[in-house]
Amino acid sequence: MSFNTQMNNIHRHQILERLGIEQLPALLPGEEIPFFEPEETRAEIPIISLPVPGRKCPACLAKGETVWVIPGKCCPQCGTPVN
Ligand SMILES: [Zn+2]
Repeated sequence: MSFNTQMNNIHRHQILERLGIEQLPALLPGEEIPFFEPEETRAEIPIISLPVPGRKCPACLAKGETVWVIPGKCCPQCGTPVN
């Protein structure tokens, strides 16, 4: 945000105060609505840190490429089934 925009916001706030118009606390310049992280999102963080759930395709690995395949699916690169 530019300095001018910030000044305009403050100026507008002063005008509103003079007019006696009350703003909601969340709308006051410089204030932000507190962000509450949902319980579910926090519970997912340990899952993100886990290794990639999959197996390396042996055919691609032999070619020097690391391709992760979900067990039971076929490799997206070469089509080799990976269990
Ligand atoms: Zn492969």
